[in-house]
Amino acid sequence: MEIKGKTVIVTGAARGIGRGIAEAFAAEGANVVAADLGSLAAKAAGDWNYALAAEAELAGVASEIGERGGSCAALEVDVADRASCQRLVEHTIEEFGRLDVIVNNAGIVQSGLVADFAESDWDRIFAVNVKGIFLMSQAALPHLQQAGGVIINIASVAGKRGYSRMGAYCASKFAAIGLTQSMAAELAEYSIRVNAICPGNIDTSMWFDHLSKSALRQRQYGTKSVDDTFAAVIDDLVPLGRAQTPADIAEAALYLTRAQNVTGISLNVAGGFEMN
Ligand code: NAP
Repeated sequence: MEIKGKTVIVTGAARGIGRGIAEAFAAEGANVVAADLGSLAAKAAGDWNYALAAEAELAGVASEIGERGGSCAALEVDVADRASCQRLVEHTIEEFGRLDVIVNNAGIVQSGLVADFAESDWDRIFAVNVKGIFLMSQAALPHLQQAGGVIINIASVAGKRGYSRMGAYCASKFAAIGLTQSMAAELAEYSIRVNAICPGNIDTSMWFDHLSKSALRQRQYGTKSVDDTFAAVIDDLVPLGRAQTPADIAEAALYLTRAQNVTGISLNVAGGFEMN
C-alpha cells in the first residue's frame, strides 16, 4: 500500500515504540492518529507497577509532528474498552475521512512467578494486550474493508517462547500472534493484510521501569543499576550487540504496510535475540 495520504491509527503512541511508529508514518506523508490513554489513565486502570504516560506526552506527539510539517491528531483511547475504541474510529473518520491502517501497539507488562501472580494483573494484561487488539480491529474493520487495509499487531519475541517469570506477558503475546494469524486467514478475502511485529529489547518505560528492576532483583547479572542490567542483557543475549529502537520497529511497520503479498507473519526485529 502507498502510505502517502493514507490514514493510520497507532495505539499507545504517547511514548516509546508507538510514538516512533507514529513519527515514521507521518514522515512518509500519512495522516496519523496518535492514540493513548491520556486523561483516561486514571479511569482505565488505577495504579500499575510503573508510571503511565502523562496526558501532556500525548499532546506533545501531535504538536511535534505538526512542527515538522506532518499531519497528526492526538486522540484518547482505552483499548480495553469497546465504546472507547469505537469513539476513536469515529473521531478518526470525522477528522480524516478514511481509515487505512491500524497499528495495535498499546501494551503493558508485569513479571512474576505463576505461583503467586495476581489474578487482577493477569486480567489487565490480557485486557490490554489481547482484547485491545480484538476490540480495535472490530471497530476499524468496516472502514478497513472499504480500503483493503492493513492491521499490524505489536507482539514480542516473548510471543514465540516462554520465559521464567513472564507467564502472563508471554501468554498474552502468544495470543496476539494467534489472533494475527486467524485474522489474516479470515480477512484475506477483503484484501486486508494482518501481520505482527516481534520486538526484542527496547529501552522504553516497560523495560527501564519494570523489566530491568525485576532482573536486578533476581541478580541475574550481578549489576547494580537498571542501566547496567539493560546493557548486560543486550551484551549477553543479542548477537548483533545492540538494543532495538522505536525507529527499528517503525521501519518494520512501514515494510509490512507496503508489502502487498505478505500476511499472517510475525516478524522478529530483535537483533537475533530469539536464537538464544
Ligand atoms: P511503553 O513505553 O510503556 O508504551 C506502551 C504504551 O501503551 C503507553 O503509552 C501506554 O500508555 C499505552 N497503553 C497502555 N495501556 C493502554 C490502554 N488500555 N489503552 C491505550 N493505550 C494504553 O512501552 P513500549 O515498550 O513502547 O511498548 C509498546 C509495545 O511493544 C507493547 O505492546 C509491548 O508489549 C511491545 N514490546 C516492547 C518491548 C520492549 O522491549 N520495550 C519488547 C517487545 C514488545 P500509558 O503509559 O498511559 O498506560
